[in-house]
Amino acid sequence: MKFTFLGTGGAFDVAYGNSAALVEFKGHTLLLDCGFTVYPTLREHQLTRGIDYILLTHLHNDHTGSLANVLLHCHYFNPNCRPTILYPDDDFRDELYEFLRLQLQKPEKYAEFMPLSELPGITALDTYGLHAERLQTYAYIFEDHGERLVYSGDIGQPEALFAYLRGMPPKATTVFHDITFSEQNTAHTYYKKLIPLAQDYHIYGYHCDPTKSPTDNPFPLVYHQPELMLSSLLQEAMH
Ligand SMILES: [Zn+2]
Ligand SMILES: [Zn+2]
Repeated sequence: MKFTFLGTGGAFDVAYGNSAALVEFKGHTLLLDCGFTVYPTLREHQLTRGIDYILLTHLHNDHTGSLANVLLHCHYFNPNCRPTILYPDDDFRDELYEFLRLQLQKPEKYAEFMPLSELPGITALDTYGLHAERLQTYAYIFEDHGERLVYSGDIGQPEALFAYLRGMPPKATTVFHDITFSEQNTAHTYYKKLIPLAQDYHIYGYHCDPTKSPTDNPFPLVYHQPELMLSSLLQEAMH
């Protein structure tokens, strides 16, 4: 299991790209979120071809803004490339379908839709309303070969996610967690809120501008981990 981040910025931190990752999971490549900077990034590095699955945390533009482009590109330019969109429940599938229908008319022409439960090893945690009022969001927990990786999605109140994790069988757990350095920003998790929850977990912050990180922030940022960034994938390809 390997996460390669395509971007680690917040909605307005375009210099760092929208937060999204390619996940190598059980021999498949899964695109986790697809904001408006993702398609250009995938194109730049010729990565559209290998996407088997697409999984979304929520429908905000910095997480879905180039999804239609990616699907159109696969359909018209990559022979035999037809990503499968995984959905955690039927209500979210309906929202996502409608979102794509407005752009693509017939989404099923460009992608398969499959319940997430059919791909064992990924758990969706419903975080409805914890990022924005009345907005459906999810965190995802990936498990394979005794390894557990958690992707928070956008979340302003992290307690429920950690309560859930504490209820799982103990296992070394890495958490990629959205983080903000502004206490006024209630849509994302203020870093000081994470401190009491962080024991027992390896936490890496993302969805932020790394230059804003204060000196007393104890959490490493994904942006500063070369092995988690796209550049590492490109280096591997060259060897
Ligand atoms: Zn976001
Ligand atoms: Zn959001």
